[in-house]
Amino acid sequence: MKTDLAEFISHSRPTLGDEEKAAVAEVMASGQIAEGEKVHLFEREMSQYIGVQGAVAVNSGSAALHLALLSLKVGAGDQVIIPVYTCTAILNAVCYVKAEPVLVDVDPHSYNLEPAKAKKALTKKTKAIIVPHMFGQAADLAELSALGVPLIEDCAQALGAGYQDKKVGGFGVLSVYSFYATKMITTGEGGMVTSNQADLLTTVRDLRHYDQNESYKIRYNYKMTDIAAAMGRVQLGKLPQMLARRKQIAQMYLDNLGGLDFGLPHIYADREHVFYRFVILVSGGLEEKINQLRKMGIDCTRPVYKPLHHYLSQSGFPVAQAVWEQALSLPIYPTLRDEQIRYIIRSVQGV
Ligand SMILES: *Cc1c(COP(=O)(O)O)cnc(C)c1O
Repeated sequence: MKTDLAEFISHSRPTLGDEEKAAVAEVMASGQIAEGEKVHLFEREMSQYIGVQGAVAVNSGSAALHLALLSLKVGAGDQVIIPVYTCTAILNAVCYVKAEPVLVDVDPHSYNLEPAKAKKALTKKTKAIIVPHMFGQAADLAELSALGVPLIEDCAQALGAGYQDKKVGGFGVLSVYSFYATKMITTGEGGMVTSNQADLLTTVRDLRHYDQNESYKIRYNYKMTDIAAAMGRVQLGKLPQMLARRKQIAQMYLDNLGGLDFGLPHIYADREHVFYRFVILVSGGLEEKINQLRKMGIDCTRPVYKPLHHYLSQSGFPVAQAVWEQALSLPIYPTLRDEQIRYIIRSVQGV
């Protein structure tokens, strides 16, 4: 099959328009381009959107994770539970603070941290659990919260997702977000920490900025610029529209890819999935299928580049290993056009 569409279909793309351009241009013309009023407004709007007391903007999701761990005083000698099938940034953050990452396997249906296995991994040294909501669907927050260890929700892939009657980001003692180019909303690079605990927010705010302090301690330059925040504010305003389009695309995939030799995403009735990724499981030959689809002009990929146990040379994570061997992520982003989606569906049906 040859592509009947002129351009290569990217796996993911930011959704940017004239409103973002105008907002950025206004900041540049003002001369106030580093952290200022726009950052503070963006923080307020994010905390209102999530429904939490406060937010602190930083320059990446990685920085947000780092400062979240520091605010909980996680350090050498402590353990942090993290799922094995997730973004490497989480492993990095645990290592930045010199704590020990404790890898835990994931649930075969949600691909999220498996609460029963997390419970077995608890020790006296467990200081926190980092819970990413993978691919846009909430982890099992009720069971994870019941473990009695501070949860850091990682909402980098799930801004706008819901769990029972609340948005994700409102459950952990702290929550982190990423605004990297291809996340749910973008500022190019960027991140945020939210919390309902004023003391934790104060610590995060203190640590992101190294200058003009009375006493010395190690601090960072993790500040967001007003240029980025201006873009982020426009993006947050567009989020409901973008979520609606993602759900529409996911529904087209769900309606047309059922009954084939693929595992479709499992959608939980008590969770609102925002389809950061549309991940299907193939029963074999993943690499060949990825290559075939690329030849047809469609960029598909593994949704997690490598599970973390590969990097740490550990074994004993059968679910993550099996999912990694089978998971294929299809293009999904608000600007994907209907004819492109139909072409992707036809192509996937054929491989
Ligand atoms: C992207 C991502 C991060 C890291 O965010 P950056 O802004 O790239 O540093 C962390 N956790 C998860 C789950 C992510 O998807």
